[in-house]
Amino acid sequence: MNKKINDLFFQKVFTKRTFLIGIVIVATLSSCSKNNDEIASETQTAALEVSHLKKGQLGGQEITYERKNGMNFFQGDIVLSDQQLTEESTANKGGASLYRWPNRTIYYTIAGNMGSINVNKINTAVNEYNSKTNTRWVLRTNQSNYVEFIFGSSNGSDGWAHIGYQGGKQTVSLDQYISVGSVIHEMGHTVGLYHEHSRQDRDQYVSIQWGNIQDGQAYNFNKYTSGTDIGPFNINSVMMYWPNSYSKNGQPTIKRANNTNFTYNRTGFTTGDINTINAMYP
Ligand SMILES: [Zn+2]
Repeated sequence: MNKKINDLFFQKVFTKRTFLIGIVIVATLSSCSKNNDEIASETQTAALEVSHLKKGQLGGQEITYERKNGMNFFQGDIVLSDQQLTEESTANKGGASLYRWPNRTIYYTIAGNMGSINVNKINTAVNEYNSKTNTRWVLRTNQSNYVEFIFGSSNGSDGWAHIGYQGGKQTVSLDQYISVGSVIHEMGHTVGLYHEHSRQDRDQYVSIQWGNIQDGQAYNFNKYTSGTDIGPFNINSVMMYWPNSYSKNGQPTIKRANNTNFTYNRTGFTTGDINTINAMYP
């Protein structure tokens, strides 16, 4: 009797383990440089992580984006819908001017597995939006158009978000170690903000250090000229890339136009960020 139970037990364990080994091999092949902890945490999604760089149209401009896990990633952490990549109408042209939330109101939910630490960060960020901008973030009851905060990874500090109002359910993804400032950044994408460094006037203020950018990542530093630039360029914006974003050698990839370094802001809104959001949501 006991033997039978043990056999069944091992049979189940073996089956499960075989399944996991299959996935871990994929993860190992696709991320040789990562340590075991990182591999372990990525086993759930690694099998799906087949990524491809693609070209598409956004607001009438040809852009390069990354197709990954069935989503379209632009400038690293902005997710574009398939619809956004196929629209050609110039009437819909522009980033910040399009896809705004009706009545300045963003309904949101938080995934049940988020964890209290991240929930506290979300609550802090929501309070920042609700107290300093014209947008109102309201816990969803039964609304059909809303954003869900999902838990991305237990060991990363990244996030990503759909850009602007999509209709239906859309997403902000937060990793375990993300900062409140970066939560505010991702929520900036939700309300429709692109990255500050991609403004069409950016070359007057910053100098892209192309030689320091990782191979294959230069497209993340292209200007997005189809967006609507609101207010003056703001190097301290919470929507600005970090000085060492995508660096291959530890050297800055973005400096001030006069070739000096700048320090990034991920503590929260600057006055310029608040003014921009309030211009979008008067
Ligand atoms: Zn971003």
